[in-house]
Amino acid sequence: MSQLEDFRDETRVWLAENCPPGARGSGQIPWGSSKIELEGDVRLWLERMAERGWTVPTWPKEFGGAELSRDEYTILIDELKRINARTPLTGRGVNYIGPTLLELGSSDQKTRWLPGISRGEGGWAMGYSEPGAGSDLASLSTRAVLEGDNYVLNGRKTWTSDAVDADYIFVLVRTDPDKPKHEGISLVLVDMNQPGVQVRPIRLISGASPFNETLFENALARADDVIGGVNNGWTVGKRLLQFERSTHAGINISGSQGGRAASSRMPEMIKRYVTLSAGRLSDSDLRVRLIRYELQGYAQRLTQKRVIEEMDARAPGYASSAIKLSGALHAQEGHELLLSAMGTAGVGWGGPGFTNDETEATRNWLRQKALTIAGGTKDVQKNIIAKRVLGLPD
Ligand SMILES: Cc1cc2nc3c(=O)[nH]c(=O)nc-3n(C[C@H](O)[C@H](O)[C@H](O)COP(=O)(O)OP(=O)(O)OC[C@H]3O[C@@H](n4cnc5c(N)ncnc54)[C@H](O)[C@@H]3O)c2cc1C
Repeated sequence: MSQLEDFRDETRVWLAENCPPGARGSGQIPWGSSKIELEGDVRLWLERMAERGWTVPTWPKEFGGAELSRDEYTILIDELKRINARTPLTGRGVNYIGPTLLELGSSDQKTRWLPGISRGEGGWAMGYSEPGAGSDLASLSTRAVLEGDNYVLNGRKTWTSDAVDADYIFVLVRTDPDKPKHEGISLVLVDMNQPGVQVRPIRLISGASPFNETLFENALARADDVIGGVNNGWTVGKRLLQFERSTHAGINISGSQGGRAASSRMPEMIKRYVTLSAGRLSDSDLRVRLIRYELQGYAQRLTQKRVIEEMDARAPGYASSAIKLSGALHAQEGHELLLSAMGTAGVGWGGPGFTNDETEATRNWLRQKALTIAGGTKDVQKNIIAKRVLGLPD
């Protein structure tokens, strides 16, 4: 038996014995926040997987990983999906700032931050966007001034997802306002539990508040928590964005992503609402769209697999923009299709006459619209693909 077959067998046996029932199927997934209590099985699963190094399977052992090879990693994910196990840990710690630190952090930063991130000790928020700096991120104006051993931060970030429950935030700040705009930026780690950091939830029309404004008023960050060098934040920050986009695209091999892709459930859901005649969808337009959607999903999954096999880092560079964009458009098309199939059942927002599944489908359809805004808009990804992947002129 080959080494990889042995690894698959051992993994299968270990997962069968150690993945508790409450960590399978849909349910709570930890992202490290100290403010969110974990259910019993969810905590147990996190502890067992962290102990084995499988919350961050490809990371070095000294930082909490298991040093799995690419092939072993793929087997682990297959086996997690086979038993419908949820990932034991997700979020910006293991997926964004962790791999950025591994690539670009100093050895002191890696030692101080990575083991805790691998065990889910602390949830992370992302402080990039500002009221005047979204797609044009390099126009950001949050200031950081060096005073002794600390930077003092002043400014306002917006759309900071999950900030109310986060313990730490990585922030793009301006450390030199006299340099050209891309050259005076740094990426710094900030403890959110201090009087100089204030979080204000932004209430959406739906009543939910997934976003926040995060204000820095003389907030302190350790000078040795600037990642990748002072005034080098544009390069470091862009690499972190590639980890974010790769996570959205399912090709960041830092964390252990279990569970089932939402797209694979879509045809089952659609079947509940359509009429079949002799096993075929009666509505020919919907039939063609569904076939096209299925083929695109298949192509997307093959591309993800190929990219994972071919890359020599934990996430690709500019190619992450292309796969993130095609994945987002595919997910949006799936929700469009479902709503088309549902007809009037798909226009409910609440109240009598609609099942929970139906109102949830409508909300999900709207929620998916954010996929082509978060992590850089559709147009920004197209600009990157044109310039950096295809080499077209500016
Ligand atoms: C679900 C979600 C979660 C988010 N979480 C975070 C977070 O945790 N932390 C954080 O920092 N930010 C977060 N954001 C913010 C996100 O990064 C920004 O919304 C995004 O970068 C776009 O910026 P903007 O909203 O200012 O839009 P703008 O940049 O003002 O864009 C407006 C429109 O103009 C277009 N446009 C702008 N420039 C160009 C150009 N050069 N060429 C062509 N078209 C252009 C855009 O594509 C868009 O259609 C989140 C956003 C969403 C939707």
